[in-house]
Amino acid sequence: MKYVDLHVHSTASDGTLTPAEVVERAASLSLAAIALTDHDTTNGVAEAKKKAEELKKQGTPIEVYSGVEISAAYKRRDIHIVGLFVDENNELLNRTLEATRANRENRNLRILERFEALGIHLTMEDLLNGATDTVVTRAHFGRALVNKGITSSVQEGFEKYLSEDGPCYVAREYLEPEHAIGLIKKAGGVPVLAHPLLYQLPHDELLTLLERLKSAGLQGIEVYYSANHGSDEMNVKALASYFSLAASGGSDFHGAMKPTIELGKGKGNLKVPYSVLQNLFSLKA
Ligand code: MN
Ligand code: MN
Ligand code: MN
Repeated sequence: MKYVDLHVHSTASDGTLTPAEVVERAASLSLAAIALTDHDTTNGVAEAKKKAEELKKQGTPIEVYSGVEISAAYKRRDIHIVGLFVDENNELLNRTLEATRANRENRNLRILERFEALGIHLTMEDLLNGATDTVVTRAHFGRALVNKGITSSVQEGFEKYLSEDGPCYVAREYLEPEHAIGLIKKAGGVPVLAHPLLYQLPHDELLTLLERLKSAGLQGIEVYYSANHGSDEMNVKALASYFSLAASGGSDFHGAMKPTIELGKGKGNLKVPYSVLQNLFSLKA
């Protein structure tokens, strides 16, 4: 059996392995294919594809597909739309994502000011921690707090400062989910709702959301996911068939940022068959 991972992060956003390292690791784990789906950027895709070319020449082939995980707002919640197979050079997509990143930069500066007001001095360099081309998220603040010995864990940083009711929280501006879906389709991609159960929506609200996204052009939903337990996979499969959405899946690998999650394997028992990829690819316009 061949297996794939269609939800993967690198240093282009908040993962800890470079795009090339992610591809090498996927090949060493004998995965047949991955899609690189960094938060609000396709910047890592070219490097990942280049590494795949090299590995092919060396006799360890692995398919690498472009992707992106776009944050969108739904009822004051952050929901994530994964765009598989998008053209990583699509101008409209990249320009819009750049604008949302600029928004985040702005937000990051405002969060820094809030920390300053509490007498906690953090700099942009503390957040980047050596990285250059990366999307700074609240997780970066959490890690900087640990590195500076201000908190003992990232989670403590969120609890004390960064959570929605914390003193350093600044809301971001979000794309509407319909907008994200439209952008992905215009860039030749297949839009997929990421980790539907993580939003903790009551069942009827999840149905409402799916109805809304389906009529906006959603084509897939993550049935296979690292955080699934019990009957989760079966339940999302039922939703997929009810809304005629293709099943997708992946680990949401972040490297050392989420150390219990391995590429392709998730927390140990994740398995995304190659046929899932083939089926999604066949939906590409
Ligand atoms: Mn992340
Ligand atoms: Mn996500
Ligand atoms: Mn993710």
